Amino acid sequence: MSQKVDNYSQETIEKMKKEYEHVLVNAPPGALFRAKTKQAVITAYKSGKVLFQGNAPLEEAAKWTAEGDTGTKKAGGHPPKIMDRIDSDLYTKSHIGSDESGTGDYFGPITVAAVYIKQEQVETLKQLGIQDSKKITDANIKALAKEITKRAIPYSLLVLHNQKYNHLQQAGWSQGKMKAILHHHAIQNLLKKIGDTHYEGIVIDQFCTPPVYKNYLASEQLKLANKTFFQTKAESYSIAVATASIIARASFLNEMEKLSKQIGSSLLKGAGKQVDKLAAAIIQKEGETSLHNYAKVHFANTQKAKRYLENEKL
Ligand code: MN
Repeated sequence: MSQKVDNYSQETIEKMKKEYEHVLVNAPPGALFRAKTKQAVITAYKSGKVLFQGNAPLEEAAKWTAEGDTGTKKAGGHPPKIMDRIDSDLYTKSHIGSDESGTGDYFGPITVAAVYIKQEQVETLKQLGIQDSKKITDANIKALAKEITKRAIPYSLLVLHNQKYNHLQQAGWSQGKMKAILHHHAIQNLLKKIGDTHYEGIVIDQFCTPPVYKNYLASEQLKLANKTFFQTKAESYSIAVATASIIARASFLNEMEKLSKQIGSSLLKGAGKQVDKLAAAIIQKEGETSLHNYAKVHFANTQKAKRYLENEKL
């Protein structure tokens, strides 16, 4: 078993913990956290040291070396290129935005939408009440999604269903990588759709640092589109990202309804205690493997549901 040790800033270690939140295991004494993926066991310490062990520790560590603060920088290596800062003018001009939904929900797929908004549409869409989908009720999301489709706004929507999601996860893909590849394809599909139409830039609602995003693309031989920018909480700045967030959430809700019909009971959003109980009921009724069709099975909810059933037996 090979291993690799690197030093990282507290900020990067926080990001790691977030990225690995669904695969955390018991940390040994003195460690901040330990996570286990298909390719490596990752243990982070307060000192900033992070230990990668397992089948492919170098590959796992490579996801993070691009963060630029590791203690093992190669002499003469190029520092990661920092994205140009977004000119806030961009948000008032014709641009593309992308956002995803379903990543924190145990049940249901991940959906990603990329949307093209023309300069003339920016104000009208704002007046329509389009904003961050997290701030809007489900009923209003559906109504707004209808308004958006009425206006013939070009968009591309991708749905990563649970079976495929679980398959990729078991093949060693992190959720971050899935998101990055989905965003990429949604944007590429949209660029094909709009052809030569002018746009000032592409705004991705940031879920990992730009170098990590680029590494994910590079691992699948893909390249970042020109004029791509990353912005945290982008829904609050970009009407294209806000519109994408609504299209993605509406699609997620729609998929949840379809799955609920299939399973004959109403699937719950989120990843809380009620979700554990519902997962337990599904395991009891249809067997554990059936969860692969409805849920992101690597979330801790699966183990909690099984423990719940075991305790019931006692
Ligand atoms: Mn987002």
